Amino acid sequence: MLTDKDRIFTNLYGMHERTLAGARARGHWDGTGDIIKRGRDAIVEEMKASGLRGRGGAGFPTGLKWSFMPKESDGRPSYLVVNADESEPGTCKDREIMRHDPHTLIEGCLIASFAMNAHTCYIYLRGEYIREREALQAAIDEAYDAGLVGPNAAGSGWDFDIYLHHGAGAYICGEETALLESLEGKKGMPRMKPPFPAGAGLYGCPTTVNNVESIAVVPTILRRGAEWFSGFGRPNNAGTKLFAISGHVNNPCVVEEAMSIPLQELLDKHCGGVRGGWKNLKAVIPGGSSVPLLPADICDEAIMDFDWLREQRSGLGTAAVIVMDQSTDVIKAIWRLSKFYKHESCGQCTPCREGTGWMMRVMDRLVRGDAEPHEIDMLLDVTKQVEGHTICALGDAAAWPIQGLIRHFRDEIEERIAHKRRGRAPAVAAE
Ligand code: NAD
Ligand code: SF4
Repeated sequence: MLTDKDRIFTNLYGMHERTLAGARARGHWDGTGDIIKRGRDAIVEEMKASGLRGRGGAGFPTGLKWSFMPKESDGRPSYLVVNADESEPGTCKDREIMRHDPHTLIEGCLIASFAMNAHTCYIYLRGEYIREREALQAAIDEAYDAGLVGPNAAGSGWDFDIYLHHGAGAYICGEETALLESLEGKKGMPRMKPPFPAGAGLYGCPTTVNNVESIAVVPTILRRGAEWFSGFGRPNNAGTKLFAISGHVNNPCVVEEAMSIPLQELLDKHCGGVRGGWKNLKAVIPGGSSVPLLPADICDEAIMDFDWLREQRSGLGTAAVIVMDQSTDVIKAIWRLSKFYKHESCGQCTPCREGTGWMMRVMDRLVRGDAEPHEIDMLLDVTKQVEGHTICALGDAAAWPIQGLIRHFRDEIEERIAHKRRGRAPAVAAE
């Protein structure tokens, strides 16, 4: 059970000062120079031991990712790039960090950059996050004035600069290589991987791209120790985690909880439960729009971590929990996501460019019941043609929610088609 004293984010709800003085009063920037003096290898090893897995959605082990960066410079600079482009539907956890606890992130940027031999860090911010940019820039300015960043940052002997870059509102720029292209001033289109950014990233130089939350938890992990952090959650699913809970709950919120918390406990404890009670639950998308939804009977048992949700053919993703009660038209909900992915596809690879449009058009008919029953399997087949055949994960993200819908709610789709064929008006019309 996570108590208040275990929480890393002590100002998630903006109840305290987000200024440097306020951050210091809550324990941030405490002994940062001494942490850096432990040395690069010690920091990377501690991060590996903590078990932290990337909080941007993919869950790749953070310490391992850092270890891919070259230890010595081959003449090229190394970079840390923080992905603050948070655009996954339902996801708003990084927003709260940047709004209310920006110093936690800046301190993490310094330590992580040092650990990866990077003197420069860029934070790539979602275009719509204007207040967050203002809060973050004000905090960066304060940190420069106090000597916490800049030359001899925090008395560590390490020179460090940090820059904010404001995106222009494209979802695809949250994909790490599209983000790098955009940062370089080009059109935001994903690159083929490999090479991964650690080999050739920003301007062709060694780069690590990490999510805001992944970096913001680093100082506390290094202050309290890897063992403390890994004490939360099931093995391979360590730590505390921000969950952004929206939809049909009584009190939607962003909350820090222990990994592996049961879904029902998460909703009851922090959101006042499902609207109309647990029995009124129809489905949950547990990790942002890219992961398949789960029906209520699976939700009864759900454990909120990477491995449990993966076993259910869903995922923790960004831990954006979208709750749908019995009043929800799930077909329409997934159709809306199809429309989103079609709109956001950058169009450079054929299965995604053509497939997202194809899937959206079939979904459009399914919402109205205006389809042949065999089209359900045909749609499933199209999702399989897209999945795994594209340059970046957007293709998978467009395919998986539809696969989840057909896996768990085929009856509802068939019923709508039958309803229409009986000559009745569709249950729900598409917008
Ligand atoms: P990925 O699994 O391809 O990569 C994850 C990270 O690990 C990347 O930084 C990648 O460079 C690194 N990596 C993976 N294999 C590696 C290897 N062999 N060597 C070196 N580095 C390696 O996933 P992704 O495409 O970066 O992310 C997909 C996820 O993003 C989805 O699961 C989704 O949940 C999430 N997402 C999040 C948002 C958001 O707003 N936070 C938006 C869209 C998608
Ligand atoms: Fe662009 Fe889609 Fe291909 Fe990604 S999968 S590179 S978004 S066309």
